Amino acid sequence: MRIDVVTVFPDYLAALDLSLIGKARQAGLLDLRVHDLRDWTTDRHRTVDDTPFGGGAGMVMRPDVWGTAIDAVSGDPGEGGAHLVIPTPSGEVFTQRHAEALSHESHLVIACGRYEGIDARVAEHYRGAGTRVSELSIGDYVLNGGEVAALVMIEAVGRLLPGVVGNPESLVEESHGAAGLLEYPVYTKPPSWREHPVPEELVSGHHARIARWRRDRALERTAARREDLIARLEVATLDKHDLATLARWGWSVVDGALRRDGAGDDRGRRDSSARAI
Ligand code: SAM
Repeated sequence: MRIDVVTVFPDYLAALDLSLIGKARQAGLLDLRVHDLRDWTTDRHRTVDDTPFGGGAGMVMRPDVWGTAIDAVSGDPGEGGAHLVIPTPSGEVFTQRHAEALSHESHLVIACGRYEGIDARVAEHYRGAGTRVSELSIGDYVLNGGEVAALVMIEAVGRLLPGVVGNPESLVEESHGAAGLLEYPVYTKPPSWREHPVPEELVSGHHARIARWRRDRALERTAARREDLIARLEVATLDKHDLATLARWGWSVVDGALRRDGAGDDRGRRDSSARAI
């Protein structure tokens, strides 16, 4: 995969030389190129922004400079072209599903905004010209620029590329994976630390018991922290043990979908309060 990042702060992306993404670059699994937007300016001051039409505070990034930059790094649209990603707090919220979809692309261009953002005609123009354009937010808060969002997206997408994460098995049971649950709590040595023992099921050596324990903790943790994820579970993917665990958290099947009954018994919460969820 090739990723071109265009920014007014190329140094911000230096972290991409580190860790697994840095190794993936060195191994040639990821062709990552970082560009300074100002290289496409034509005036002496290397201007990338101007005052907003309609008035108001702040500056807006100019479409002419962005257009020249994006054309230069995107390649020929006739040959599939690049998928243009524009980080913005007003975009769709970036999730693991976006990361998976983007990991199947061969070329991404990430346009990092600053100030009040990029002139809206840039996204409009490329969409109209047949380019795949994704305006994506990394969460409901406002950053000063798109660089941190680009780092987040590159790490989430990059680790899904074949060969980037050493053991691909570790991607299977993660939070936000195919099961639609948060991951169960994890433990390592020593078996007892500051009088906190590891749950006995995990040292039982009994595979089915370990699997059941993990599944129950994943369901409980998700019920406690992310009710929205539980509400989206497909009932057909749940067995009777799953349904019993969810019932302790007040969830039952109504008309083929999971519903949280307001009365709900809080036994699950009480039982779990003493252990990690
Ligand atoms: N005026 C914009 C608004 O209210 O939607 C905010 C602009 S923000 C100060 C400047 C740049 O930071 C944006 O163009 C975008 O590149 C980036 N940015 C800020 N928050 C972001 C978020 N939650 N997700 C992705 N990018 C973000």
